[in-house]
Amino acid sequence: MRYEEFYRRSVDDPEAFWAEQARAIHWHRQPDRILDYSNPPFRKWFVGGETNLCYNAVDRHLEARADQLALAAVSTETGQTRELSFRDLYREVNEFAAVLKSLAVGRGDRVVIYMPNMAEAAVAMLACARIGAIHSVVFGGFAAHNLALRIDDAEPKLLIAADAGMRGGKVLPYKPLVDAACAEANAPPPHVLIVGRGLDPDHARVEGRDLDYRELRERHAGAEVEVEWLESNEPSYLLYTSGTTGKPKGVQRDVGGYAVAMAMSMWAIYDVRAGQAMFSTSDVGWAVGHSYNVYGPLIAGATSILYEGLPTSPDPGVWWRLCEQYRVRTMFSSPTAIRVLKKQDPAWLAKYDLSALQYLFLAGEPLDASTAHWITDGIGKTVIDNYWQTETGWPVLALMPGVETKPVKFGSPGLPVPGYRLRVVDEASGEEAAPGHKGVLVIDPPLPPGCMTTVWRDDQRFLASYFSHFRELVYSSLDWAIRDEDGYTFILGRTDDVINVAGHRLGTREIEEAVSSCGAVAEVAVIGVADEVKGQVPVVFATLRDPQADAAARDRAASDMKRAVDGSLGAVARPARVYIVNALPKTRSGKLLRRSLQALSQGQDPGDLSTLDDPNALEEVRRALAGGS
Ligand code: ATP
Ligand code: MG
Repeated sequence: MRYEEFYRRSVDDPEAFWAEQARAIHWHRQPDRILDYSNPPFRKWFVGGETNLCYNAVDRHLEARADQLALAAVSTETGQTRELSFRDLYREVNEFAAVLKSLAVGRGDRVVIYMPNMAEAAVAMLACARIGAIHSVVFGGFAAHNLALRIDDAEPKLLIAADAGMRGGKVLPYKPLVDAACAEANAPPPHVLIVGRGLDPDHARVEGRDLDYRELRERHAGAEVEVEWLESNEPSYLLYTSGTTGKPKGVQRDVGGYAVAMAMSMWAIYDVRAGQAMFSTSDVGWAVGHSYNVYGPLIAGATSILYEGLPTSPDPGVWWRLCEQYRVRTMFSSPTAIRVLKKQDPAWLAKYDLSALQYLFLAGEPLDASTAHWITDGIGKTVIDNYWQTETGWPVLALMPGVETKPVKFGSPGLPVPGYRLRVVDEASGEEAAPGHKGVLVIDPPLPPGCMTTVWRDDQRFLASYFSHFRELVYSSLDWAIRDEDGYTFILGRTDDVINVAGHRLGTREIEEAVSSCGAVAEVAVIGVADEVKGQVPVVFATLRDPQADAAARDRAASDMKRAVDGSLGAVARPARVYIVNALPKTRSGKLLRRSLQALSQGQDPGDLSTLDDPNALEEVRRALAGGS
């Protein structure tokens, strides 16, 4: 099939298209209507249809593939690997669901899950889905305050937590964070279920509130819990955005539309079918973890690899070794992770048998051309940049090798994914921008299946955040984009990341791309800083591939960066200052916190730091700013 035809059908007759796609999943009751769009921009897909995410991810595969590996949870932190066949997964999910029911958790109740990448995190999610409880996975290791905020937003009946996580060989006890969060929250859960890993066996217990998962599970050994059939538009889960630009938003997802989007994306985009393996390096706490570590692969009957650990430990070949071991067909990671590997010897990329591996998909942040080339050459596989948001739940822009092989254009996440009616529009007029002209990427509603249905308990915020930026009712991605003559779209950064130098509007992404073309550079963030003469000037923060570089080498690198920007964008974009640091401030999901860099550079408060990963990185920036460049 041709991509163009597939895409056309999806936008010309969405109801026929999605009715066809909906056949890929199991419906307990067929939908009465494919789409109800009587209350724009809210929409309902597969109205009246009844289904269940857990049934589609687990039960449905028992007949054909009970003994196939469903989930391999590999931890290079604890040194443990758990491999579950679909039969094993069925048993564990049922027992977990029985435990949930014994705690009076039922349909529509919220359950907060605070766990690292361990098998039980996926099992807990599926158990919630089975009984119709709404899970809200909070990235394990988030500070107590973040957890408290998410508890108060969801008002859960239960919090499920691991006793501890591990990072870089260090045990991070979760239980003290859970206790602090429950103390801070206005709506603490009546029960906390601890899934012990033996990492913090002596943690304090609160009588009557804290329960031990293993103890309860034993009581329900062999239990089978009936699937709760949900109307397609009931909520399945909540998930917060990364908080790169401000306070995280609680994205609410549905059941039927999400299942159908997962099923289609698995074959059409990731080219993974039943019996094949997918390895996504994401954390279960992010959108990618939900969609492509848990629901997508399992709904497809594929094997999912879940990894806890650093990409460089025990050595920088660990991910490729897993690709060999599990005959991974499609791998999914982030540009940030690849930039970490880029600081290592490229020989690691060629050490293992990657004959099963076909694709490496990368998403979450702009993929600069230099990193894309480095990894493409290093593994000799197709590297596909794909663009999406927590809000959408699955890709908006990608290449779809499962439909048709299209050439990669470095720097572009590719073509519109079927179902998305995308336009690039002028920020002021809302008129469609001509090819080659910069504008804001928008989606014409109704949003396709799989995308958020609203902000949890806050329809107004849903409307205000996404649908209020233009005269017309359109979903704003809040990202700058440019589309070329072939329909390939390039993402130029966030709409609040534009630098205005003496009236010239420059995307931070364009400048970053130029800076990262310098061989010495590992990572870069460009921000605009207020300037009396020019309004704003670009300022560069960069890390080098060689962290040991001496002062002379750093100076050389800084001049190279300025020259590179001059060469590709002109003197107007030349960075006023270049700061070389050892780490850049990022969110826990690995995204650059430009807003904090910008605030600090202007002597202001760095703002909401609740999602900041490494406080040292911010300290370094403070020091660099104080010391000059
Ligand atoms: P918040 O919305 O809370 O500020 P966030 O936008 O970082 O946080 P996510 O949903 O995790 O939260 O990230 C989506 C954003 O990441 C996109 O809007 C875009 O800015 C960026 N992004 C994702 N994939 C790509 C990509 N392939 N190329 C460029 N940018 C990307
Ligand atoms: Mg966002």
